[in-house]
Amino acid sequence: MTAKIIDGKAVAAEIRAEITVEVKAIKEKTGKTPGLAVVLVGDDPASKIYVGNKEKQAKEAGFNSYNIILPQEISEAELLEKIDSLNKNPDIHGMIVQLPLPKHIKESAVINAVDPKKDADGFHIENVGKLNTGQDGLVPCTPLGCMILLKKNLGDISGKNALVIGRSNIVGKPMAALLLRESATVTIAHSKTKNLPELCKTADIIIAAIGKPNFVKAEWIKPGAALIDVGINRVDSKLCGDIDFATTSKVAGFITPVPGGVGPMTIACLLGNTLKAFRKSLNI
Ligand code: NAD
Repeated sequence: MTAKIIDGKAVAAEIRAEITVEVKAIKEKTGKTPGLAVVLVGDDPASKIYVGNKEKQAKEAGFNSYNIILPQEISEAELLEKIDSLNKNPDIHGMIVQLPLPKHIKESAVINAVDPKKDADGFHIENVGKLNTGQDGLVPCTPLGCMILLKKNLGDISGKNALVIGRSNIVGKPMAALLLRESATVTIAHSKTKNLPELCKTADIIIAAIGKPNFVKAEWIKPGAALIDVGINRVDSKLCGDIDFATTSKVAGFITPVPGGVGPMTIACLLGNTLKAFRKSLNI
């Protein structure tokens, strides 16, 4: 079997095109423009590239984009003050603070300082609670992107065995919550899980968010399974995922490549979340 390659780049482009049309229509009707603020602390080169991509795509979709670059040494209190001013700024409808933050700043304090209505990353405890109790809120972008790809390719996933590998707050846990919301039978594996190959063997869907290059092997895969690879790893200056694409793609039914799979969906969903927050602010 040769797996169907899920083209996340193409799906993300479609989503951004739809968002662009909607932004234009709202602008014509109300004169208002959605605003996305991206806060970056320090000058980590990879984060800078990522923030630059977000700005470019936000502008292309017709958003006002505000990049706020703050020094590495900024105090937690000063950062919280900055977030408070963005919370109060009516031109900003969506906001994210690029993670990770420097060690002297408490991540949870910063995440929960963002107005939940503007929380385009969906990391605020209020949005986490909404996701886990089936209420409408802002959902973390990467898992949301994975779910869109899954539903587009598999249709109804209710009753399917879904295995999430990784339990981070930004990917693994919200991914599991989204799969549960779609009535999949969900298992979460992590670094202490003992029987990962056997768990993989029973999975119709595997979402890998580990951060270890080519970790998931072809021998573990149930023939025809859908493999969603969130991992971004650099090996010999080339990008690869957490799933061994070359071998698993011969067993699986569906697979996302790295790059060009989940990655582009994350920014598309960030714009989607900001548009959702913008619409809510206008009561439309
Ligand atoms: P993290 O380091 O916070 O979490 C990694 C998870 O993997 C942990 O929960 C850990 O328990 C689990 N793990 C580690 N070793 C394991 C093992 N041997 N077996 C099973 N589980 C194991 O990472 P994260 O922030 O969730 O990100 C995971 C990967 O996804 C990284 O490569 C990251 O760069 C990538 N990522 C990509 C996007 C995107 O837009 N495509 C977004 C976020 C993260």
